[in-house]
Amino acid sequence: MSAVQPPPDPNDLPRSFASRDALEALLAKEFPEARGELSSIRGGRRAAEKKLSQIEPGRYARSRNHLNGAVTGLSPYIRHGVLTLAEVRDAVFAGIRNRDEGQKLINELGWRDFWQRMWQDLGDRIHNDQEEFKTGHAASSYSRELPDDVRDGRTGLACMDGFRDQLVSTGWLHNHARMWMAAWLVHWRRIHWKAGADWFLEHLLDGDPASNHLSWQWVASTFSHKPYVFNKGNLERYSSGRYCTNCPSAAQCPFEASYDQLEQQLFAVQASIRSVQPNRRSKRINQASSNPASSNHAARSRSARHSL
Ligand SMILES: Cc1cc2nc3c(=O)[nH]c(=O)nc-3n(C[C@H](O)[C@H](O)[C@H](O)COP(=O)(O)OP(=O)(O)OC[C@H]3O[C@@H](n4cnc5c(N)ncnc54)[C@H](O)[C@@H]3O)c2cc1C
Repeated sequence: MSAVQPPPDPNDLPRSFASRDALEALLAKEFPEARGELSSIRGGRRAAEKKLSQIEPGRYARSRNHLNGAVTGLSPYIRHGVLTLAEVRDAVFAGIRNRDEGQKLINELGWRDFWQRMWQDLGDRIHNDQEEFKTGHAASSYSRELPDDVRDGRTGLACMDGFRDQLVSTGWLHNHARMWMAAWLVHWRRIHWKAGADWFLEHLLDGDPASNHLSWQWVASTFSHKPYVFNKGNLERYSSGRYCTNCPSAAQCPFEASYDQLEQQLFAVQASIRSVQPNRRSKRINQASSNPASSNHAARSRSARHSL
């Protein structure tokens, strides 16, 4: 017996449109308070399948850390169930010559799955600090408000303002940009990770409480055994210098320092950051070779201090 579909609720918004302009016009009418335009990211199964057909696991493995690397852009489709992780996995296996070629991308799919399982385990507790900060600063010393200059993209740092603009206008950011922005907000600006995480969720098309909140906590060190930091050399390298070249703050770049200097400047407990033993939960993450937020992050993998 075939299932009878109930008629659509007349109060629902329409689901098909004659054109993208028609969709945009309806959204502008229904949500007059929302500023900006439609993201350039197209929704729907057809767009998802097209992107899936373009994945290049080998190039992905070599270039994932670079802003212009061969990342897949599949996260919004995975997030909303347009693609399953199993479909993406099968597409990876179908497109590789040997298992090694697909390993990096498969690992990342694994992180998505891992965060979902942590969410199942922790429930709403993902919104709370999982552990104390390993920075030497009390949780209460981190501001709970996102500053206006950050929200409006007026910090004067070309990189951070650029990431903010991309986040707000497209609803997507490269993983490395997410990490840099989260680290800057938490460690340099001393904003509590939750304020940043909530702001990300306002804009991300792939916004997912588990991947987002737990990645922010990983950067902050409330879900890892040490804080994640980066320096100018790292950002410049993986962004091909696109922000630093014309940055109005170049003369006083807050990231221009060695990792040792940054640890001294930002944290109250450098010694314990270096020697701290991961506790049981951090260990589960750390054992998985490296970083849940960026499993091949060069800043950390080059230096024991910064690798997980
Ligand atoms: C602070 C911060 C916040 C984040 N918030 C989110 C979020 O809200 N939603 C979200 O889906 N991802 C989030 N991530 C993880 C990651 O940044 C994105 O999944 C990735 O950048 C999406 O782009 P892509 O599809 O091109 O990824 P690719 O690198 O092409 O990876 C393919 C798929 O693997 C999964 N994946 C890749 N890296 C990760 C990762 N580190 N953790 C979990 N899954 C991963 C995603 O489903 C992704 O679509 C966050 C990371 C950080 C550091």
